[in-house]
Amino acid sequence: MQTKYIEFTSCDAPGFLDAARALKEGRLVAFPTETVYGLGANALDRKAVRSIYVAKGRPVDNPLIVHISDLEMLKPLVTEIKPDVLKLISAYWPGPLTIIMKKTSVVPDITTGGLDTVAVRMPDNPVALELIRKAGVPVAAPSANRSGRPSPTMAKHVLEDLNGKISYIIDGGQCKVGVESTVVDMTVEPAVILRPGGITPLMIKQVLGSVELDRSLIEKADIGKPKSPGMKYKHYAPKAEVFVVSGDYNDIVNWLSKAVSEDKKSGIKSVVLAAKEHIQEYGLNNAISFGSINDASEVASNIFRLFRECDRIGAEKIYVEAIPKEGIGLAVMNRIEKAAGGKIIQAGE
Ligand code: AMP
Ligand code: MG
Repeated sequence: MQTKYIEFTSCDAPGFLDAARALKEGRLVAFPTETVYGLGANALDRKAVRSIYVAKGRPVDNPLIVHISDLEMLKPLVTEIKPDVLKLISAYWPGPLTIIMKKTSVVPDITTGGLDTVAVRMPDNPVALELIRKAGVPVAAPSANRSGRPSPTMAKHVLEDLNGKISYIIDGGQCKVGVESTVVDMTVEPAVILRPGGITPLMIKQVLGSVELDRSLIEKADIGKPKSPGMKYKHYAPKAEVFVVSGDYNDIVNWLSKAVSEDKKSGIKSVVLAAKEHIQEYGLNNAISFGSINDASEVASNIFRLFRECDRIGAEKIYVEAIPKEGIGLAVMNRIEKAAGGKIIQAGE
């Protein structure tokens, strides 16, 4: 298959209209959202949705998020829209918040991995919204990467992973947020966050009064000791082996400086992804800045691109400095820890 690469210019450009038509008719179109690039298919078309799993190499029991452009599109998909759901919608849609609700039979099982619930969100990106509007159907769209690889935050990342496997890529520039949406389960009381993302737990609490974090997130947040490689949790990962290094600033710098010089002696190419405030400690040849330690949003928008950059330069090991799990930092650390597959080093212990 030949993949058509379209640079977005306007919603009336012939290429854009062709892509919207292709999407409606059952073909795959990658498009920008404010979080990461999505790989879209008509969510109501079983065959189209199945082709997403094939193109990505994604396990079929991993359900997809259905993207909509307006509330009218939501109604047929779900059995009810609870008052609390409406509150979340009016506060954070369009935006990086995915809401799990009970599904109707309109939504095929393949879209939800066989579950009786469906995950829905309205993306905050004009290109995405217009594409969905023009296609006129809800759009199932996981991240537009090969399964297990870092999510794409630029159109060229999609091309790297999916060229020849999908019909269209719409280039709408770099994604603003850089990590995937927050997933909140609204079928239970109190609501539970299944995946941290652009909308923080505090932001949800402010609207609902209370929200819980899924146990798996809390247990992982508690990991303080080195963990043996756990492929089970590996995800979002570059080709290199990833290690998270946490602890006090001085301990992190001491541990990392030693590790990098030992790797060098052994002929291993390692790279440190570090806060810009620390970068000079490791030497420019060994480290790349992921942004400021005081700005988790900046780290979020850079992290997946940097994982791919490490692949490009042939890194064998990537050490990532931990950042505080506050605000969107919780989502950033969740992705980094998954990429590390549990290899978390507590420097200074
Ligand atoms: P991705 O689109 O690749 O960013 O992944 C979608 C995320 O949403 C995955 O973590 C899924 O497990 C989650 N998800 C999608 N649908 C559901 C659902 N019905 N119930 C629970 N989690 C879901
Ligand atoms: Mg994904």
